[in-house]
Amino acid sequence: MNAWLTLTTIHLKLTLRDRQALFWNYLFPLFFLFVFLSIFGRGGPRSTGIMTAGLLCISTMAVGFFGLNIGLVTARERSILRRYRLAPIHPWLILSAEVATNFLTALSSLIIQLMLAKAVYGLKIAGSLWALLVMLSVGVLAFLALGLIIASVAENTKVAPVMANLLFFPLMFLGGAAIPLEMLPPLMQKISRWLPSTYLVDGLRRIIVDGAGLSANLVNLTVLGLTFGVALVIATRLFRWEPAESLPWSKKAWATTVILVFALAALWRGGEISAERSPVLVIRGGRVIDGTGRSPRDNAVVIIEGEKIKAVLGEREASIPDGARIIDARGKTILPGLIDVHVHLGGSAGAAASPEEYTPARELHDLKAYLFSGVTTIKSLGDMEDRILDLRARERAGELLAPRLFAVGKVFTAPGGHPVSTIFAGAPDFVVDAAVFQVETEQQARAGVRALAADGVDGIKVIYDGGTPERPLPKLHGSLLAAIIDEAHKAGLRVSVHCGTGQDVREAVLAGADGIEHADQDDLDDHTIALMAERGVFYSPTLAVIEALLNLAKGIHATDDPLVRACVLPTILTGLTSPRSPILRRLRELPDAVMRFEHRLQVAKMNVRRARAAGVKIATGTDAGNPGTFHGPAMHRELALLVEAGLTPLEAIVAATRQAANYLGAGDRLGTIEPGKLADIVILDGDPLKDISATEKIWKVIRGGQVIDRQRLFAEHAVAKANPSIP
Ligand SMILES: [Zn+2]
Repeated sequence: MNAWLTLTTIHLKLTLRDRQALFWNYLFPLFFLFVFLSIFGRGGPRSTGIMTAGLLCISTMAVGFFGLNIGLVTARERSILRRYRLAPIHPWLILSAEVATNFLTALSSLIIQLMLAKAVYGLKIAGSLWALLVMLSVGVLAFLALGLIIASVAENTKVAPVMANLLFFPLMFLGGAAIPLEMLPPLMQKISRWLPSTYLVDGLRRIIVDGAGLSANLVNLTVLGLTFGVALVIATRLFRWEPAESLPWSKKAWATTVILVFALAALWRGGEISAERSPVLVIRGGRVIDGTGRSPRDNAVVIIEGEKIKAVLGEREASIPDGARIIDARGKTILPGLIDVHVHLGGSAGAAASPEEYTPARELHDLKAYLFSGVTTIKSLGDMEDRILDLRARERAGELLAPRLFAVGKVFTAPGGHPVSTIFAGAPDFVVDAAVFQVETEQQARAGVRALAADGVDGIKVIYDGGTPERPLPKLHGSLLAAIIDEAHKAGLRVSVHCGTGQDVREAVLAGADGIEHADQDDLDDHTIALMAERGVFYSPTLAVIEALLNLAKGIHATDDPLVRACVLPTILTGLTSPRSPILRRLRELPDAVMRFEHRLQVAKMNVRRARAAGVKIATGTDAGNPGTFHGPAMHRELALLVEAGLTPLEAIVAATRQAANYLGAGDRLGTIEPGKLADIVILDGDPLKDISATEKIWKVIRGGQVIDRQRLFAEHAVAKANPSIP
C-alpha cells in the first residue's frame, strides 16, 4: 500500500510538471467551458445548468478516452509497460496508480470548471455539492475503465486516438451531453439508452438543475458503477504489456459476451428511464372536465407533448405515440390546474404569532403548497413589490417549484386607507411603502401606474373601500380611481378593484374596472349586476377569507382537514390558537364578530347567487394569506362555498379554470384542457360533479407537462438551499 501511495504521488507530480498534460487536463476543458457558456449559456440559469452538466460529462469522457488511454498506449509502444512487468512490484499496482492519478487530476479539473461556471456564468447548483462530487467520481471511474479497454485493444498510438474518437463522438452526441436527448430522433434516443454518458449527463443534470439527491439518482449511479466494474474486468482480461502481443480469440470472444450481457441489462433498465423523460405524456382512461363548461368526456385520452396539450381524444380515435409515458387515469377525474386570482403571498395565513411566518422559507413552502393543492397559477393581488417580482422572475426562469405567478406589485389606496391602517397598522414605513401607493392627486396616481407598468406588473389593484359604518376608513376619490383605470388601460393592464359596498362596485364598474374583489358589505343592486354582466366585468367574491375569519371568531380550526394538515406548516396552525396573537385578540375584541362575519358571508353568497343568475363572470379568488385562509387549501373552500352560493359544481370548476384564466388575461394559454394550452392539469380520485369536495382528493398534479412529485415536494429542500442569499 505504501509503495502504491508513493507511486501515485510520483505519477501526480509528473503529471503536474508535464505541460502538455496540464494543458489537456486543465486549460483545454476550461477553454471549452468558456466558449460554450459564452455562446449558449445566456438563456437563464436553467439552461446554464443544463449546459454545464453536458460540458462536465464531455470533460469526464475526454479524460478516460484521451488522457489515460493514449498515455498507456504510448507507454506500451515505448516498452515502458514491459519494464513495469519486470519491476519488483506487481504491474497492476503500477497501473492502478496510473488510474488513481488520472482520477485525481480529472476530479480537480472538474471542480475548477464548476467553480468558474459558478463565478463567471452564475451557475446555480440546486442540489448538494456532496451528491455532485459522488456523481462526478463515479462517472470519472466509469470512463477511466472504458479508457483502459481501448488502451488494451488498440494496437498502437495511431489506432488509439481513432478508436477513442469513434467512441467519444457518439457518446457525446447521443448521450445528451452536446444535444438534449429530447431533440434526437426516436431511433437515436433508443441507442442512447445503451450509452453510459446518457446516465452521467442525466445524473449531473438532476443534481445541478433539479436539485435531486443521490437517492433520486440510484439508476444513474448503478449503471455507471456497473460500467466501471464490468469495464475494469474486461480491461484486466485484455490488457497487454508487450507492444507486439496481440489478442487471442478466446479473450475476444469472452469480452464480447460480457459486453453483450451488460448491454442487454442496460437496455432493459434504460427503457424505463427514457420513458420517464419521454417528451410525450399520455393521460388515458379518465373523465375529462376540460374547463370550458362543456359536459365531461369519459374514457378520454389527453396527449401532452413537452409543456403543451397536443390533443384531447376519445379512446377509439387516439393512437398513443410510441415511447410515450402513460398515466392510467381510469376512475379518476381530470381538470385544468386550478387558478387563484387573489392571494397575498407575504401573508402567512397565520395569526402573526411567530417571526417564522415572515421568512422567505415560509413563502417558498407556500408556493409548493399551491402545487400540492392542485393550484397551478396564482395572482398576488398586493405584496411587497420587489420581493414578489423577484419570486416571479425566479418562477419564470424555472428556478422554483411554484405555480405560475402573476403579480400587481403595489396596490393603490387613499392615504391611511385600507390596508395601511388595517393590515399594516403598526408596520414600519418601509414595509408599507414597498406594498402600497397612497395617492392624493391624479398626477401621483398616473405616475404610480406608469412606474408599475415599467416594472412589468401583470395588472393593477385599487382599494376602493370606505370601511364600515362602525369603522370608517379614508377612501380614494372616484376621480382618482378613474384616472388609475384610464392610465392602466393605456398600458394594457387590467384593473382589479377591492370594493366593500354595492355602491363602491357600481362606481368602480362605471369607472371601467375589469374585475371586482369582495363586495360583501351590502347587497349588489340589480342595476349594478346587470352592468357587470353587460360590461363583462369579472367578480371574485373571495368567500374563503370571510369563512376563515368567521371560523376564527367562532374558535373553529380547520386542523382536521387532511389537505390542510398535509401542506400547512405546523407553526401556522399552532399560531392560530396562540393566546399571544395580536390578530386573534383584535378579532375577539370586535363586538359581535361572529354575527358580523356570518352576515358578510350571507351577503356575499347572495351577491354571488344573483350575479350568477344574471350571467356575470365569476372567478375564484381566496384572499389567501389572511389569517386562516391557507395558501392552496383555501381554493377548495372557495369552490365549495361557490357551490353553496348556488353555482353548479361544473360552474364552480369553470370559475376556477377558464374564467380565472380569462380574468388574468391568460385565457389563450391557461385555464382549459384543449390543444395548444399549457399542460397544467389536476387529476382527482373522486368525482367533483357529484360532490365538489372531491377537488381535495388530489391524485396527481401536472404543471407545464411536468408531473409534480407531491410526496416529495416538501422534502425537497433544494430550492431553499440553492438560494441562501435571500435576506
Ligand atoms: Zn386581498
